[in-house]
Amino acid sequence: MATAVKRGEMFIGGEWVAGSGEEMQPVLNPATGQVIAEVPKGTADDVDRAVTAARKAYDEVWFDSTPSERSLMLLKLADAVESHAAEIAGIESQNVGKPLATTLSDELPPMVDALRFFAGGARFLEGRATGEYMKGFTSMLRREPVGVVGSIAPWNYPLMMAIWKIGPALAAGNTVILKPSEWTPLSALRMAEFAAEIFPPGVLNVITGDGEPVGAGIVRHAGVNMVSLTGDVATGKEVARAASQTLKRVHLELGGKAPVIVFDDANMDAVVEWIKIGGFFNAGQDCTAATRVIAGPKIYDNLLSSLVPAVESLNVGDPASDDTEMGPLVSKEQFDRVSGFVDRAREGGAAILTGGAAIEGPGFFYQPSVVADVTQESEIVRREVFGPVVTVQRFADDDQAIAWANDVDYGLAASVWTTNVARALNAARKLQFGTVWINTHIPLVNEMPHGGYKQSGYGKDMSIYSIEDYTNIKHVMAALE
Ligand code: NAD
Repeated sequence: MATAVKRGEMFIGGEWVAGSGEEMQPVLNPATGQVIAEVPKGTADDVDRAVTAARKAYDEVWFDSTPSERSLMLLKLADAVESHAAEIAGIESQNVGKPLATTLSDELPPMVDALRFFAGGARFLEGRATGEYMKGFTSMLRREPVGVVGSIAPWNYPLMMAIWKIGPALAAGNTVILKPSEWTPLSALRMAEFAAEIFPPGVLNVITGDGEPVGAGIVRHAGVNMVSLTGDVATGKEVARAASQTLKRVHLELGGKAPVIVFDDANMDAVVEWIKIGGFFNAGQDCTAATRVIAGPKIYDNLLSSLVPAVESLNVGDPASDDTEMGPLVSKEQFDRVSGFVDRAREGGAAILTGGAAIEGPGFFYQPSVVADVTQESEIVRREVFGPVVTVQRFADDDQAIAWANDVDYGLAASVWTTNVARALNAARKLQFGTVWINTHIPLVNEMPHGGYKQSGYGKDMSIYSIEDYTNIKHVMAALE
């Protein structure tokens, strides 16, 4: 097991330190329900210590760092993560219940690539023009870091989300206080061990603890210039409200409820194959999960006839086993949330075509589920379930498909399935989501932005746009005489 698991300490100012409070927080393996580690339950004092360390590092070291120096450090961090990929996949698998084999093959490489992308991006940040916009004066633009950034991460992809946050922030020249989810802090602590060998003290700090007081403490702290949260919409609203007291910048990557619009002319085999992946990867605990299928009147019946056996064929079980495709939900709370949604849908008249129940035994396993006979108004269609549950609706015409797809508070990702190019492009134009896939669902690339419309938040992850989000633009104007 990783040394971070044994430490029970936080990483502040380049040192491993005990939490300032007495209390420790147990960390569970959701496949067994057993405690696998304890980490400090952070306090407001720990937030304060981390802010002091991050500010000192910003003022004394990082402010004067060059893009190439920051880039090199991020490349070293990428190398460290890559050379410990199997160990990190093991930590994520034990702590989140992710299937070990696919975590190693599908999650670790894009994390390493993200760090390398941000390393490159550090050297490509630019302002637009420099020139004489008033006679006798030269104007120039400086793109500067924001300062001390608080990065608050969720539990579903613990290290990937942490990297999406710390990568652009550090590349742009900010110092960072990272707070992983209280349920899944282990991979971030392990990464901090690598960072200790690479970054100057205080440039990256990792503190553990609950949303309140640690996450909220970061948001309240006057010494933090910007907060980036990936989490639930309700948490995003709390963070935006609290941040208004100090008017600090807020970057929010929140929930999703991705529609999958399947027109009658779609390639049905591809649709089924991708829903099986996109709806159930990470046990459906994915903000872009292919969770809300909206199918054409002619394809609907055939689609269900193929989708249900495909979903039933998923191998659910021990995350450590090579052929496991789906593990447990992350926690008892998440299990209760998911089963609550399905139970209420059933009581409301929905048809549970497969799944809809717990899997007997230890851990928080839930059956992969397909739910039909749901209305656009039903809770299970409108709210994020964040579990292995896909709903299927039948639309009457193209306009209704787009209207239903857009008719939720979320706007993170959507997919459209058709062999008609014009239909696909029209749909892509009308869909109010930050990502629209055509004839696929779920792949992302580090060069392209990821982020929400509407209540899925604002600000972009990945891409050069995310690095820009962590900068300020300054106009410098000089008289020529
Ligand atoms: P969450 O909102 O419960 O917690 C996220 C983080 O916020 C945790 O570290 C938590 O401790 C912290 N937190 C909680 N209350 C806080 C407060 N008042 N102030 C500051 N921090 C606080 O979310 P979660 O359950 O960990 O993650 C699942 C959610 O994240 C889902 O809604 C999912 O869609 C979303 N998500 C979004 C993206 C994206 O890219 N948009 C990616 C992954 C997950």
